[in-house]
Amino acid sequence: MEMDKVALENSLLQKKDQLESYLKEMDYEEIQFSGVMIDSEEIASAAIKFERNSRLFIVKRSFQETLDKINRSLQKVKNGTYGTCESCGKTIGIERLQAIPLTIFCINCS
Ligand SMILES: [Zn+2]
Repeated sequence: MEMDKVALENSLLQKKDQLESYLKEMDYEEIQFSGVMIDSEEIASAAIKFERNSRLFIVKRSFQETLDKINRSLQKVKNGTYGTCESCGKTIGIERLQAIPLTIFCINCS
């Protein structure tokens, strides 16, 4: 049981690192895009870039949301409340946590 939780924590930390590096790359790309947009006189290419930019924004927002959830889960690991249902306070089954590591509810409350 405890080994399983350690494995879960490690995979959360790995995902966190991954998301943080993706988000950093995206920030860089976004700066590149907006720079090109201002200078560009070709409306067509500007439109494509705008589209890429807004898609990037959506992906970025979903990455950011996941990252927030991971950080909340890691905070709970620290507090010793990770794997406790936020609604009824019961322990969430390890199989459920392995399937959905970021869940905050047990199977009955979800
Ligand atoms: Zn519950």
